[in-house]
Amino acid sequence: MKSGRKLSVRRQAILGFLCIFTLVMFIVLFVANRILTDQLQTFETELAEINARRAANAVLSDIEKLDALVKDWAWWEDSVAFLEGNAPNYIDDNITPGVFKDQVLDAIIFQKPDGAVFHGASCVDGKVVAVDAELAVFAVNFAPHLGEMTRDVGFRGILSLGRDFWLMACRPILDSQGQGPLRGWLWMMRRITDFVVAEWAERTELSLELTTSVHETVPASLAQYARSARSGSPAWVHLEGESLLSALTLPNGSGGPPLIILTRTPRSLNRIGRHIARAYVLLGVVMAGLGVLGGVAFLNRKIFSRLESLSGRVAASARELVLDTQEVTGDELDRLDRIIDRAFESVRENETFLEKTMDSIQAGLMLVDKADRRIVRINAFACNLIGFGEKDILGSTCHRFMCPEEVGQCPVLDMGLKQDSSKRILLKADGTPVNILKSVAPIVHHGREYLLETFIDITDLEHTRRLLEESEERYRTIFMNTGTAVVIIDDDTSILLANREFLNLAGVTRQECDDKMPWTRFFPPDEKQKMLRYHHMRRNDPESAPRSYTTRFIDAAGNLRHVNLTVALIPHTTQSIASLVDITDMKQAEERYRDIFENAPVAIFRATPEGRFLVVNPCYAGMAGFDSPEAMVAGVTDIAAQMYVDPAQREVYKRQLSEHDAVRDFEARLKRGDGSEFWASMTSRAIRDEVGRIVSYDGFLVDVTERKAAEEALKQARDTLELQVAARTLALRQANTRLVELDQQRASFLSSASHELRTPLTSVLGFAKLARRTFARYFHPLAGGEEVLKRKSQLIMNNLDIIEQEGERLTRLINDLLDLNKIEAGRMEWRDARLDVAHELESASKAMQGAFSSKPKVRFDLHVAEDAGDIVADRDRLRQLLLNLLSNAIKYTDEGYVRLGAGPLPDGGLRIRVEDSGQGIADEDRERIFQKFYQSHSGHPEKAKPEGTGLGLPICRHIVEHYGGSIRVASNTGRGSVFLVEFPPTIRTAG
Ligand code: ADP
Repeated sequence: MKSGRKLSVRRQAILGFLCIFTLVMFIVLFVANRILTDQLQTFETELAEINARRAANAVLSDIEKLDALVKDWAWWEDSVAFLEGNAPNYIDDNITPGVFKDQVLDAIIFQKPDGAVFHGASCVDGKVVAVDAELAVFAVNFAPHLGEMTRDVGFRGILSLGRDFWLMACRPILDSQGQGPLRGWLWMMRRITDFVVAEWAERTELSLELTTSVHETVPASLAQYARSARSGSPAWVHLEGESLLSALTLPNGSGGPPLIILTRTPRSLNRIGRHIARAYVLLGVVMAGLGVLGGVAFLNRKIFSRLESLSGRVAASARELVLDTQEVTGDELDRLDRIIDRAFESVRENETFLEKTMDSIQAGLMLVDKADRRIVRINAFACNLIGFGEKDILGSTCHRFMCPEEVGQCPVLDMGLKQDSSKRILLKADGTPVNILKSVAPIVHHGREYLLETFIDITDLEHTRRLLEESEERYRTIFMNTGTAVVIIDDDTSILLANREFLNLAGVTRQECDDKMPWTRFFPPDEKQKMLRYHHMRRNDPESAPRSYTTRFIDAAGNLRHVNLTVALIPHTTQSIASLVDITDMKQAEERYRDIFENAPVAIFRATPEGRFLVVNPCYAGMAGFDSPEAMVAGVTDIAAQMYVDPAQREVYKRQLSEHDAVRDFEARLKRGDGSEFWASMTSRAIRDEVGRIVSYDGFLVDVTERKAAEEALKQARDTLELQVAARTLALRQANTRLVELDQQRASFLSSASHELRTPLTSVLGFAKLARRTFARYFHPLAGGEEVLKRKSQLIMNNLDIIEQEGERLTRLINDLLDLNKIEAGRMEWRDARLDVAHELESASKAMQGAFSSKPKVRFDLHVAEDAGDIVADRDRLRQLLLNLLSNAIKYTDEGYVRLGAGPLPDGGLRIRVEDSGQGIADEDRERIFQKFYQSHSGHPEKAKPEGTGLGLPICRHIVEHYGGSIRVASNTGRGSVFLVEFPPTIRTAG
């Protein structure tokens, strides 16, 4: 049957609670109004009546007090005496401003028994004056009634006169015992001012006023009441706005309309009552609301929520449960009922589904009884994997197939783990082990505890994992040993991994690097900004960020380096890999070469074959008349036309480059920007791309204008010179022929002159010697004791000695001259023979003995090495050489030594050494002494002309050089000289 849509149980409960709440509200309101308000109103009316009485009592109390004062004065002996005229000072002593003030009086009247006023006084502004006429008249008029009063009571009350109200009291004046004849009457009156009324109001704490019943403000009902009221009547009470007016009447002593004392009582109780009623209502509402909420919350917590959660749980555990529109009608309980029905249905379906899933799932599944570890369920996949049928497996202990080696070590049953998932071994029916990944979880099924074991064959997986590990290891090895600094950077720019080269480059340790070191710390702030931008670009739009760029790098020690950075994102990750190549040295070299390029004093350029400059240096720009290299590169668009005086020249230059790839000193006439011309010499090479096409020409050029001009001038000069040289050569040739003739003439003259000179010289010398000897023997002794003759004969002998010496010297000179002439002319006859070096040196030494004996302070040493050996040479010339050197040594040595030595040279030659400790030879003379006729003056400046001929050493040099040897001298001025003669090995064999 189709049921109508019902309200939910929760809504029904809320509605019920709301109804109860509304009912309670109405009851509370009724009770509050009916009981509380009415009661309070009655109470207020009574209070108003009481207030009216309290106000009247306040007035009456003042009248009583006034009466007591009058009685005090009226029964006083002095007052009796005053009326009898026996107290002349009575007025001055008693009717004083102080008395008026202290007793709060406004008038005192003494009246004679006949009604005449005996004395009346008032006090105005602190002064006692005659009593107000109106009061005096009232007293006189009232006199007839005074007799009606009893003596000990008097008359007292309240009266109205004109607009004023008065309190008054009147008593008969008697003696102090209240006896005696009547002496008169004493009146005392107090004006009822606003002050007095305020004082009553203050005393009674009431709002009150005094008025006559005929006053226009008095309500009609009150006027009516005043007319009819008797003493003891209840007070008149009237409601006026938020106040209650209450009034009592007082008799008017003047006989006029009765007076009314009116009080005003605020209806505060009523207001409080209303507030209390409202508070009750509010309290009721709140309580009822809380009750409703509490009730609903209670129901919600204890029933509805649980009902809902139950429905939800049932629905959730059977998600496929779908209720149709018809089924969502009814309340929650109806729905729960239907959901549970469906859930049960769903559970049955699920069980079937589970069965099918278990059998079709591509993973092994088995249920093991926890108590005896026997397999109670197994799916088809597991059976296949094991290789047994289900029947053969069920009932077996799980260790028969699972983890056979680990009996007693089950992670869940033996080790106490809640569940386990790990790699294990499965033993197949044929005994082969298989790698599996197995999960074990305890479950409860139909109240019994089982282990649910699921597993998959991971043989292939293991294989793949191993391959992956190997691959990772390979790439890791490549990464770590690539030889280039490489880092892997994480998304947050920290370094994930760095190889050794990077650690070396950055100067950090691996520990520092492993601690999430920020990658950007190695870059200066401006580079860092750029890199962070690239970092984000690379992750958002990988193509937009540059893959490779140059940047500055600051290592841990603060050194600035330049690196070439290549960065790429690792696919399928947010990590990037960066390799760094340190190009600091390259950069510095580039800067150095740039410096050379910029400041080179030669013009350097790179130009295209098409005729544009790619780059030129400042020198070239200046040379070509441009302000800057940039202006030249931009301004020259056709080098051939703009730069070459003859554009065809550039074609020649290009052809040479394309044929030889280089040109050296290619000279061309170039133009400047201002049209002036200059000669340039270019050296260039062609730069080719990978396919061999020429892409540019690199080269330099120098301005050779001056050299060209010089060459031109030189060419002209050379032409002239060649003519002059031809003429001069002819002249020289003629002169040379003449010279040869002259030389021959000189040689033959010298030869014949020497010969001609030698013959007479021999005669001169012979006769001079003879003359000296003869003179010495025969004529000198003849002088006897004759001093003059003796001196003269000695002088003659000395002169003959000089002739002899000079003759010998001349002979030597002629001999030397002839020898030298012969040698130079090539006419010397060299009679070479094998000579024993030691023997020849000893023989020459002996020949010099005479000379040594004349120098006793000079020691002579001879040292010939044992292996000095033989030589082949002309004996006379060798002797001439030795004697020349030895005689010089003796000649220029005064004390010390002269040493002659000889020995073999390492190459087989011979060295002869003549050393002395004489005066030495000045540096500047050391070469010149081997020139003909040169005689040094430096060593012996005291001598005007040195002895000797100046030909000895030149002859020595000729002899030595004849045998291929050399002669040289080492000397220390003042300390001696060493003459070294070295013959080549040929001296031993030459024939
Ligand atoms: P001379 O016949 O004048 O010695 P030489 O040709 O033998 O001519 O020597 C040339 C000059 O060399 C000498 O005048 C002398 O000044 C200098 N001379 C040669 N040998 C020596 C030496 N052993 N000590 C100092 N001076 C020497």
